Amino acid sequence: MFDIEQYYEAKSVEDAVRLLSEHEDAEIISGGTDVLVKLREGKGAGGTLVSIHEIPSLHGVRCLPGGTLEIGPATCFTDITNHPLIRRYVPYLGEAVDTVGGPQVRNQGTIGGNVCNGATSADSAATLQTLNAVVVLQGTGGVRRVPVTEFYTGPGRTVRRHDEVCRAIEIAPEDYVGFTGSYMKYGKRAAMEIATLGCCVRVKLDEAGETILDARIGYGVAAPTPIRCRNTEGALAGRRVDDPGIYELIGTGVLDEVNPRSSWRASKEFRLQLISELARRALREAVDRSLNHEAPKTACSDEERR
Ligand SMILES: Cc1cc2nc3c(=O)[nH]c(=O)nc-3n(C[C@H](O)[C@H](O)[C@H](O)COP(=O)(O)OP(=O)(O)OC[C@H]3O[C@@H](n4cnc5c(N)ncnc54)[C@H](O)[C@@H]3O)c2cc1C
Repeated sequence: MFDIEQYYEAKSVEDAVRLLSEHEDAEIISGGTDVLVKLREGKGAGGTLVSIHEIPSLHGVRCLPGGTLEIGPATCFTDITNHPLIRRYVPYLGEAVDTVGGPQVRNQGTIGGNVCNGATSADSAATLQTLNAVVVLQGTGGVRRVPVTEFYTGPGRTVRRHDEVCRAIEIAPEDYVGFTGSYMKYGKRAAMEIATLGCCVRVKLDEAGETILDARIGYGVAAPTPIRCRNTEGALAGRRVDDPGIYELIGTGVLDEVNPRSSWRASKEFRLQLISELARRALREAVDRSLNHEAPKTACSDEERR
Protein backbone atom coordinates (compact mmCIF):
# COMPACT_ATOMS: atom_id res chain seq x y z
CA MET A 1 0.00 0.00 0.00
CA PHE A 2 2.89 2.38 0.80
CA ASP A 3 5.95 2.51 -1.46
CA ILE A 4 8.75 2.75 1.15
CA GLU A 5 12.28 1.57 0.33
CA GLN A 6 13.71 1.61 3.87
CA TYR A 7 12.19 2.29 7.29
CA TYR A 8 14.35 3.02 10.36
CA GLU A 9 13.19 3.24 13.96
CA ALA A 10 15.50 5.77 15.65
CA LYS A 11 16.34 5.00 19.29
CA SER A 12 17.47 8.52 20.20
CA VAL A 13 17.69 11.98 18.67
CA GLU A 14 21.41 11.35 17.94
CA ASP A 15 20.46 8.12 16.20
CA ALA A 16 17.86 9.95 14.08
CA VAL A 17 20.38 12.67 13.15
CA ARG A 18 22.90 9.99 12.10
CA LEU A 19 20.32 8.17 9.97
CA LEU A 20 19.24 11.42 8.29
CA SER A 21 22.84 12.34 7.50
CA GLU A 22 23.50 8.88 6.05
CA HIS A 23 20.39 8.89 3.84
CA GLU A 24 19.97 11.95 1.66
CA ASP A 25 16.47 10.96 0.60
CA ALA A 26 15.29 10.19 4.14
CA GLU A 27 12.29 11.94 5.67
CA ILE A 28 11.36 12.03 9.34
CA ILE A 29 8.08 10.40 10.23
CA SER A 30 6.46 11.14 13.58
CA GLY A 31 2.69 10.57 13.72
CA GLY A 32 2.65 10.07 9.95
CA THR A 33 -0.65 11.89 9.34
CA ASP A 34 0.99 14.12 6.72
CA VAL A 35 3.81 11.85 5.54
CA LEU A 36 1.67 8.77 4.91
CA VAL A 37 -1.04 10.77 3.12
CA LYS A 38 1.64 12.22 0.81
CA LEU A 39 3.17 8.78 0.25
CA ARG A 40 -0.16 7.34 -0.75
CA GLU A 41 -0.47 10.15 -3.28
CA GLY A 42 2.89 9.01 -4.68
CA LYS A 43 4.98 11.92 -3.30
CA GLY A 44 8.29 10.67 -1.91
CA ALA A 45 7.52 7.14 -3.12
CA GLY A 46 10.41 4.67 -2.92
CA GLY A 47 12.14 6.79 -0.28
CA THR A 48 13.49 6.22 3.21
CA LEU A 49 11.66 7.02 6.43
CA VAL A 50 13.27 7.65 9.82
CA SER A 51 10.74 7.25 12.59
CA ILE A 52 11.17 9.35 15.74
CA HIS A 53 7.95 8.05 17.25
CA GLU A 54 9.61 5.73 19.79
CA ILE A 55 12.12 8.23 21.19
CA PRO A 56 10.95 8.76 24.79
CA SER A 57 12.56 12.21 25.24
CA LEU A 58 10.42 13.62 22.41
CA HIS A 59 7.16 12.92 24.24
CA GLY A 60 5.41 14.88 26.97
CA VAL A 61 5.38 18.38 28.44
CA ARG A 62 7.84 19.49 31.13
CA CYS A 63 8.68 22.50 33.26
CA LEU A 64 12.38 23.41 32.96
CA PRO A 65 14.37 25.20 35.67
CA GLY A 66 13.47 28.89 35.38
CA GLY A 67 9.88 28.12 34.39
CA THR A 68 10.25 27.46 30.66
CA LEU A 69 7.63 25.06 29.32
CA GLU A 70 9.17 22.37 27.14
CA ILE A 71 6.85 20.53 24.77
CA GLY A 72 8.10 17.29 23.24
CA PRO A 73 7.50 17.51 19.48
CA ALA A 74 6.24 13.90 19.27
CA THR A 75 3.44 14.65 21.75
CA CYS A 76 0.08 14.04 20.09
CA PHE A 77 -2.58 16.76 20.13
CA THR A 78 -4.84 14.92 22.58
CA ASP A 79 -2.02 14.65 25.11
CA ILE A 80 -1.20 18.34 24.69
CA THR A 81 -4.80 19.43 25.28
CA ASN A 82 -5.14 17.23 28.37
CA HIS A 83 -1.74 17.90 29.92
CA PRO A 84 -1.97 19.64 33.34
CA LEU A 85 0.85 22.10 32.53
CA ILE A 86 -0.83 23.12 29.27
CA ARG A 87 -4.23 23.44 30.93
CA ARG A 88 -2.83 25.59 33.71
CA TYR A 89 -0.42 27.86 31.85
CA VAL A 90 -1.33 27.93 28.13
CA PRO A 91 -4.86 26.48 27.85
CA TYR A 92 -5.53 28.33 24.59
CA LEU A 93 -2.76 26.26 22.93
CA GLY A 94 -4.58 23.10 24.06
CA GLU A 95 -7.82 24.53 22.66
CA ALA A 96 -6.13 25.39 19.36
CA VAL A 97 -4.81 21.87 18.75
CA ASP A 98 -8.15 20.45 19.87
CA THR A 99 -9.60 21.89 16.63
CA VAL A 100 -7.37 19.64 14.47
CA GLY A 101 -9.17 17.06 12.31
CA GLY A 102 -11.10 14.54 14.40
CA PRO A 103 -10.26 12.37 17.44
CA GLN A 104 -8.22 9.81 15.47
CA VAL A 105 -6.05 12.51 13.89
CA ARG A 106 -5.59 14.21 17.26
CA ASN A 107 -4.50 10.92 18.84
CA GLN A 108 -1.91 10.36 16.11
CA GLY A 109 -0.80 13.76 14.79
CA THR A 110 1.91 15.58 16.72
CA ILE A 111 2.71 19.20 17.45
CA GLY A 112 6.22 18.78 16.03
CA GLY A 113 4.78 17.53 12.74
CA ASN A 114 2.35 20.47 12.75
CA VAL A 115 5.25 22.92 13.05
CA CYS A 116 7.80 21.16 10.83
CA ASN A 117 5.42 20.63 7.90
CA GLY A 118 5.67 24.40 7.41
CA ALA A 119 1.94 24.79 6.73
CA THR A 120 0.38 28.20 7.29
CA SER A 121 -2.91 26.40 7.98
CA ALA A 122 -1.48 24.39 10.89
CA ASP A 123 -3.75 24.89 13.89
CA SER A 124 -0.91 25.30 16.37
CA ALA A 125 0.78 27.97 14.25
CA ALA A 126 -1.04 31.20 15.18
CA THR A 127 -0.84 30.46 18.91
CA LEU A 128 2.83 29.43 18.87
CA GLN A 129 3.59 32.68 17.02
CA THR A 130 2.01 34.72 19.82
CA LEU A 131 3.88 32.66 22.42
CA ASN A 132 7.25 33.50 20.83
CA ALA A 133 7.85 29.74 20.95
CA VAL A 134 11.37 28.53 20.26
CA VAL A 135 11.97 25.54 17.99
CA VAL A 136 14.97 23.57 19.25
CA LEU A 137 16.73 21.78 16.38
CA GLN A 138 19.46 19.17 16.70
CA GLY A 139 21.58 18.15 13.72
CA THR A 140 25.12 17.14 12.81
CA GLY A 141 26.17 20.76 13.38
CA GLY A 142 24.87 20.74 16.97
CA VAL A 143 21.83 22.30 18.61
CA ARG A 144 20.28 25.62 17.59
CA ARG A 145 17.26 27.48 18.90
CA VAL A 146 15.13 29.19 16.29
CA PRO A 147 12.29 31.54 17.27
CA VAL A 148 9.13 30.24 15.60
CA THR A 149 8.62 33.76 14.25
CA GLU A 150 11.77 33.16 12.12
CA PHE A 151 11.18 29.47 11.41
CA TYR A 152 9.06 29.69 8.24
CA THR A 153 10.58 30.69 4.91
CA GLY A 154 7.60 30.10 2.59
CA PRO A 155 4.59 27.85 2.05
CA GLY A 156 5.60 24.41 3.35
CA ARG A 157 9.19 25.60 3.86
CA THR A 158 11.18 26.19 7.02
CA VAL A 159 14.78 26.85 8.06
CA ARG A 160 15.14 23.25 9.28
CA ARG A 161 18.04 21.47 7.57
CA HIS A 162 17.72 17.96 6.24
CA ASP A 163 19.68 16.36 9.11
CA GLU A 164 17.96 18.34 11.87
CA VAL A 165 15.38 16.92 14.23
CA CYS A 166 13.10 19.23 16.20
CA ARG A 167 13.79 17.97 19.69
CA ALA A 168 11.68 20.49 21.67
CA ILE A 169 9.37 23.46 21.48
CA GLU A 170 10.02 25.91 24.31
CA ILE A 171 7.86 28.68 25.77
CA ALA A 172 9.56 31.13 28.13
CA PRO A 173 7.75 32.30 31.30
CA GLU A 174 7.70 35.95 30.17
CA ASP A 175 5.63 34.80 27.20
CA TYR A 176 2.90 33.07 29.23
CA VAL A 177 2.80 34.43 32.80
CA GLY A 178 0.01 37.02 33.13
CA PHE A 179 -1.46 36.26 29.69
CA THR A 180 -4.81 34.92 28.59
CA GLY A 181 -5.63 34.03 25.01
CA SER A 182 -8.11 32.73 22.52
CA TYR A 183 -7.77 30.83 19.24
CA MET A 184 -10.52 31.20 16.65
CA LYS A 185 -10.61 28.91 13.63
CA TYR A 186 -12.91 29.32 10.67
CA GLY A 187 -13.68 26.28 8.60
CA LYS A 188 -16.78 25.34 6.66
CA ARG A 189 -17.57 22.59 9.16
CA ALA A 190 -16.69 21.95 12.79
CA ALA A 191 -14.53 18.82 12.37
CA MET A 192 -12.14 17.31 9.81
CA GLU A 193 -11.57 20.73 8.33
CA ILE A 194 -8.31 22.50 7.51
CA ALA A 195 -8.47 26.13 8.64
CA THR A 196 -9.73 28.67 6.12
CA LEU A 197 -8.38 31.14 8.65
CA GLY A 198 -6.93 30.78 12.15
CA CYS A 199 -6.40 33.66 14.57
CA CYS A 200 -4.96 33.81 18.07
CA VAL A 201 -5.10 36.91 20.25
CA ARG A 202 -3.46 37.07 23.68
CA VAL A 203 -3.43 39.86 26.21
CA LYS A 204 -1.75 40.76 29.46
CA LEU A 205 -3.62 43.37 31.52
CA ASP A 206 -2.41 45.56 34.37
CA GLU A 207 -3.09 44.53 38.01
CA ALA A 208 -6.36 46.46 38.07
CA GLY A 209 -7.57 44.72 34.91
CA GLU A 210 -8.12 48.08 33.22
CA THR A 211 -5.34 48.52 30.68
CA ILE A 212 -3.65 46.32 28.10
CA LEU A 213 0.05 45.99 28.92
CA ASP A 214 0.89 43.56 26.11
CA ALA A 215 -1.13 42.27 23.15
CA ARG A 216 -0.13 39.52 20.73
CA ILE A 217 -1.90 38.74 17.45
CA GLY A 218 -1.02 35.68 15.36
CA TYR A 219 -2.58 34.26 12.19
CA GLY A 220 -2.54 31.15 10.08
CA VAL A 221 -3.61 31.39 6.39
CA ALA A 222 -3.54 35.22 6.48
CA ALA A 223 -0.25 35.06 4.53
CA PRO A 224 1.95 32.38 2.88
CA THR A 225 3.42 31.66 6.34
CA PRO A 226 2.06 32.07 9.88
CA ILE A 227 2.45 35.73 10.93
CA ARG A 228 2.28 38.23 13.78
CA CYS A 229 0.67 41.68 13.47
CA ARG A 230 3.15 43.71 15.47
CA ASN A 231 1.98 47.22 14.52
CA THR A 232 -1.54 46.51 15.73
CA GLU A 233 -0.13 44.82 18.85
CA GLY A 234 1.81 48.02 19.57
CA ALA A 235 -1.27 50.18 19.00
CA LEU A 236 -3.29 48.12 21.50
CA ALA A 237 -0.71 48.41 24.28
CA GLY A 238 -1.73 51.07 26.81
CA ARG A 239 -5.38 51.10 25.71
CA ARG A 240 -8.18 50.65 28.25
CA VAL A 241 -10.15 47.40 27.96
CA ASP A 242 -13.46 49.21 28.54
CA ASP A 243 -12.84 51.35 25.45
CA PRO A 244 -14.98 49.85 22.64
CA GLY A 245 -12.53 51.45 20.20
CA ILE A 246 -10.03 48.64 20.79
CA TYR A 247 -12.21 46.28 18.78
CA GLU A 248 -12.38 48.69 15.86
CA LEU A 249 -8.63 49.22 16.18
CA ILE A 250 -7.77 45.54 15.99
CA GLY A 251 -10.32 44.82 13.24
CA THR A 252 -8.95 47.49 10.92
CA GLY A 253 -5.30 47.54 12.03
CA VAL A 254 -4.61 43.93 11.13
CA LEU A 255 -5.79 44.47 7.56
CA ASP A 256 -2.61 46.46 6.83
CA GLU A 257 -0.40 43.61 8.05
CA VAL A 258 -1.82 40.55 6.29
CA ASN A 259 -1.50 39.13 2.80
CA PRO A 260 -4.13 36.43 2.23
CA ARG A 261 -4.80 34.81 -1.12
CA SER A 262 -7.79 33.37 -2.89
CA SER A 263 -7.98 29.59 -2.98
CA TRP A 264 -10.68 27.02 -3.60
CA ARG A 265 -11.52 27.26 0.13
CA ALA A 266 -12.20 31.01 0.18
CA SER A 267 -11.65 34.23 -1.74
CA LYS A 268 -9.12 36.79 -0.57
CA GLU A 269 -12.02 39.19 0.17
CA PHE A 270 -13.74 36.65 2.44
CA ARG A 271 -10.46 35.92 4.22
CA LEU A 272 -9.97 39.65 4.86
CA GLN A 273 -13.41 39.76 6.46
CA LEU A 274 -12.50 36.74 8.61
CA ILE A 275 -9.18 38.32 9.57
CA SER A 276 -11.02 41.35 11.01
CA GLU A 277 -13.88 39.53 12.63
CA LEU A 278 -11.91 36.68 14.22
CA ALA A 279 -9.44 39.18 15.69
CA ARG A 280 -12.26 41.18 17.28
CA ARG A 281 -13.86 38.04 18.74
CA ALA A 282 -10.58 36.57 19.95
CA LEU A 283 -9.62 39.87 21.61
CA ARG A 284 -12.98 40.01 23.38
CA GLU A 285 -12.59 36.45 24.65
CA ALA A 286 -8.98 37.00 25.75
CA VAL A 287 -10.00 40.15 27.67
CA ASP A 288 -13.00 38.40 29.26
CA ARG A 289 -10.76 35.55 30.39
CA SER A 290 -8.35 38.00 31.91
CA LEU A 291 -11.14 39.83 33.76
CA ASN A 292 -12.25 36.38 34.94
CA HIS A 293 -8.80 35.96 36.56
CA GLU A 294 -7.77 33.09 34.30
CA ALA A 295 -4.23 34.37 33.62
CA PRO A 296 -1.47 32.36 35.36
CA LYS A 297 0.15 34.58 38.01
CA THR A 298 3.41 32.65 38.25
CA ALA A 299 5.60 30.44 36.11
CA CYS A 300 5.49 26.67 36.48
CA SER A 301 7.25 25.57 39.66
CA ASP A 302 9.79 23.13 41.11
CA GLU A 303 6.94 20.97 42.33
CA GLU A 304 5.56 20.59 38.80
CA ARG A 305 9.01 19.96 37.38
CA ARG A 306 9.11 16.38 38.63
C1 LIG B 1 -7.76 13.60 7.99
C2 LIG B 1 -6.77 14.66 8.38
C3 LIG B 1 -7.22 15.85 8.94
C4 LIG B 1 -6.31 16.84 9.32
N1 LIG B 1 -6.80 18.00 9.88
C5 LIG B 1 -5.92 18.96 10.29
C6 LIG B 1 -6.41 20.15 10.91
O1 LIG B 1 -7.61 20.37 11.11
N2 LIG B 1 -5.48 21.07 11.32
C7 LIG B 1 -4.14 20.87 11.15
O2 LIG B 1 -3.34 21.73 11.55
N3 LIG B 1 -3.65 19.75 10.54
C8 LIG B 1 -4.51 18.80 10.11
N4 LIG B 1 -4.04 17.65 9.51
C9 LIG B 1 -2.60 17.54 9.20
C10 LIG B 1 -1.77 16.76 10.25
O3 LIG B 1 -2.55 15.93 11.07
C11 LIG B 1 -0.97 17.69 11.14
O4 LIG B 1 -0.17 18.56 10.39
C12 LIG B 1 -0.07 16.94 12.13
O5 LIG B 1 0.36 17.84 13.09
C13 LIG B 1 1.13 16.27 11.52
O6 LIG B 1 1.84 15.63 12.58
P1 LIG B 1 2.46 14.18 12.36
O7 LIG B 1 3.19 13.81 13.58
O8 LIG B 1 1.41 13.23 11.91
O9 LIG B 1 3.48 14.54 11.20
P2 LIG B 1 4.22 13.60 10.15
O10 LIG B 1 3.30 13.25 9.04
O11 LIG B 1 4.92 12.49 10.84
O12 LIG B 1 5.31 14.67 9.65
C14 LIG B 1 4.93 15.90 9.07
C15 LIG B 1 6.18 16.63 8.59
O13 LIG B 1 6.94 17.10 9.70
C16 LIG B 1 8.23 16.49 9.72
N5 LIG B 1 8.50 16.21 11.13
C17 LIG B 1 7.64 15.62 12.03
N6 LIG B 1 8.17 15.64 13.26
C18 LIG B 1 9.38 16.23 13.17
C19 LIG B 1 10.42 16.54 14.11
N7 LIG B 1 10.31 16.27 15.42
N8 LIG B 1 11.55 17.15 13.65
C20 LIG B 1 11.67 17.47 12.34
N9 LIG B 1 10.72 17.22 11.41
C21 LIG B 1 9.59 16.59 11.81
C22 LIG B 1 8.15 15.27 8.82
O14 LIG B 1 9.37 14.94 8.24
C23 LIG B 1 7.14 15.75 7.79
O15 LIG B 1 7.78 16.55 6.83
C24 LIG B 1 -4.93 16.64 9.13
C25 LIG B 1 -4.48 15.43 8.57
C26 LIG B 1 -5.37 14.44 8.21
C27 LIG B 1 -4.86 13.16 7.62
